Amino acid sequence: MSFSKPNASAATRTKNRTPNDRTPASGMCSVCVDDCPGICEIGKSAFRAAENLYPQPFGIITAGADKDYPVDFSHLNIMGTAVGAVGIEADSDKAIFENVNTETRLGKDKGIKLRLPIMIPGLGSTNVAKTHWNGLAIGSSISGTGLTIGENVGGMDVNTRLENGKITHCPDLEYRVKTFQEWQKDGYGVIVMQENVEDGRLGVLEYGINKLGVQAVEMKWGQGAKDIGGEVKINSLEKARLLRDRGYIVLPDPYDTNVAAVFGKAFKEFERHSRVGMVNE
Ligand code: SF4
Repeated sequence: MSFSKPNASAATRTKNRTPNDRTPASGMCSVCVDDCPGICEIGKSAFRAAENLYPQPFGIITAGADKDYPVDFSHLNIMGTAVGAVGIEADSDKAIFENVNTETRLGKDKGIKLRLPIMIPGLGSTNVAKTHWNGLAIGSSISGTGLTIGENVGGMDVNTRLENGKITHCPDLEYRVKTFQEWQKDGYGVIVMQENVEDGRLGVLEYGINKLGVQAVEMKWGQGAKDIGGEVKINSLEKARLLRDRGYIVLPDPYDTNVAAVFGKAFKEFERHSRVGMVNE
């Protein structure tokens, strides 16, 4: 039995011609016919190649894998003790709902205070993160939790200013950090800034710490615990060239005149890839 659902997914806008009759190992229709236009992942990728890897429609979605894991958290129960108390005095008048305390402290000197031990992971340069930043930042800040600004925000902002290849001004980063900081109460909560290979070359963390008062950083190599770099789509030739100039890998080459001539016709989006960081241990 396969736990995955290969070859057809809402994330890649693909499906099987015969969804009730599929080969489990490959996901292909039991009968693959000559005149099928190729509506599954195999068929579509035969025409569009690596373009088909991206969940669609890009920029307004968050996609999750539809693998059916044989074990998940719903199979576990947390069983508390019925004898005494842990974390509070074993006194029936003290171990009451109002006295629940979920505060925690982080950092070398424990100077970062959280009301809840929750960290929201990196939300980077994608439109979906930017569109919902107010809700995320304000909600996280007033709840006293941690929120992480993901990779590539500085490099992707067309209004970023650079001097000698280093960021000196970035409206998007400033907006993200300040929105969080403005709603912080009594010093609770923390805004974290990520850095990947390209961010490091652009001096994102130096800018965040020195100019914006960022207190915590996350060095990043890989993407979501996988050995790949971040990938986004770019629907403008000018922006594709700007990102190429800032050091990103942009495919196909936006400075190639043949590519530029068919942009908007044969294909509508460039791919922007970030590099994978290399560490030894
Ligand atoms: S190309 Fe073949 S496997 Fe894919 S949807 Fe068509 S018939 Fe099914």
